[in-house]
Amino acid sequence: MPAKHIPTQRESAFLDTVEDIRHEREIINGLAPFLNEKAPEDMLSFYTEDEVVKLRVLKDTERDIESRMPVKLTRHYYELARRSKPIQRIVKADPEETNDMTGSEDPGNQMDYSPVEGLLHKYEMGLMYVVSTCSAHCRFCYREELIARKEIERQDGTKAKKGLAKIPDVVGYIKEFNAQVEANGGRHPVCGREKLREILLSGGDPMVLNNAKLAAWFGALAEAGIESIRVGTKEMAFYPQRFDDTFFAMLDKFHETYPEVGMHFMLHFEHPDEILAKDDDGNYIQDGKGFLQWVPETGKAMRSLTARGWMSVENQAPIIKGINDDPDAIRMLQREFKRAGGENHYFFCGRDIVAYKSFNVPIESAWNILNESQKGLSGVESHARMSITHYKGKTEVAAVTNEPIPGLPGSENGVVIMKLLRNSHSAPDRGKVCIVGRNPNAMWFDDYEDRVLYDEAGLFEYTRVKKDAEKG
Ligand code: SF4
Repeated sequence: MPAKHIPTQRESAFLDTVEDIRHEREIINGLAPFLNEKAPEDMLSFYTEDEVVKLRVLKDTERDIESRMPVKLTRHYYELARRSKPIQRIVKADPEETNDMTGSEDPGNQMDYSPVEGLLHKYEMGLMYVVSTCSAHCRFCYREELIARKEIERQDGTKAKKGLAKIPDVVGYIKEFNAQVEANGGRHPVCGREKLREILLSGGDPMVLNNAKLAAWFGALAEAGIESIRVGTKEMAFYPQRFDDTFFAMLDKFHETYPEVGMHFMLHFEHPDEILAKDDDGNYIQDGKGFLQWVPETGKAMRSLTARGWMSVENQAPIIKGINDDPDAIRMLQREFKRAGGENHYFFCGRDIVAYKSFNVPIESAWNILNESQKGLSGVESHARMSITHYKGKTEVAAVTNEPIPGLPGSENGVVIMKLLRNSHSAPDRGKVCIVGRNPNAMWFDDYEDRVLYDEAGLFEYTRVKKDAEKG
């Protein structure tokens, strides 16, 4: 791969216009400021004395909270958390988190799909780790291995920390892969995939990068022939002030320079308390006509994104125990997000991360919570589907029944119907179905292993992909 990326004239003209300003996120990094009373005085009560004692006891043991997932929060998010138990649970370390450390260090065997460091190539889409942190850290993060800089086992058995994507490597890979696809009539000669046409900037949170770094990625990807760029971010919850005029000026200039490239923002709000303003009694504030008021900075950021009709703005979030396992809360979230001009994309079942039993709700409960939440929503408000990320690919939990299916042994307590949406390696399995007998306690696929009734999707025959099959 080339050692250095040389921008084209068009790219340089765009990059020359980018302005950066310094952002003061007022981040509290780590537990130490709370344990050593070094955090700002008004924030110290975020952890009770009892919690501090329990967390201190776990320090440097096998159950050290921060070796699993580092603690981090912004002043903005702290202010929201002060008035909201669910928001506290998103960022506040809990000694119970490490009671049961069952789970996978690399959920989904992500590294199996990494042709160059920091890039995962799945479907006709690439996902890049462009940074290994966020402005605050969710306790249930399914990228804990990246954020906590853990060593992950690769397909060849070696162990190493996940590296970040670099522009020359990624651009080199895209160009080479797509040239081979084109020369071979639209399919890659080895792996049979179509053109790599869409890239998701992920991490960590790309929005912690400054405008110049984001612009460098956007310009390089556009020049490499990428048709659609997605940005996956929770920054609008953690620090909405990041969506400032300099950022939008950069985006507008990018669009002016590369109008053919699609741009999509995938936001991440779990709970309406992340977007709606509350009064001192903890009630949502309404205007004279009964419209709920957004947190001013969040509302401004959201309006600025949705006002640009050439981008799409979507929300996706997991359903997590004690945070948003509440149909009323996510009904309000979906309604408000759509009212502001966004689309509700997915709700996820929690993945099988290390310690997932502390965070995940059973699969059937998650489906039921989403289904209940959508009673009372209009058709346009209820687009979100329940997804579970099987190692084979993204899968929809399409239905859970309560009644037996006549003549089908094993369905006495009802069934769960799952539908494969995408297969990580290729597309032909899309739409294939898997039906299992119900297990209301199931949190992951292995809890259904003894009750598979029908599996054309092959979810229960999964074996780790072979290294050579994935390389283009
Ligand atoms: S914002 Fe996303 S990547 Fe960052 S800590 Fe939360 S879940 Fe993890």
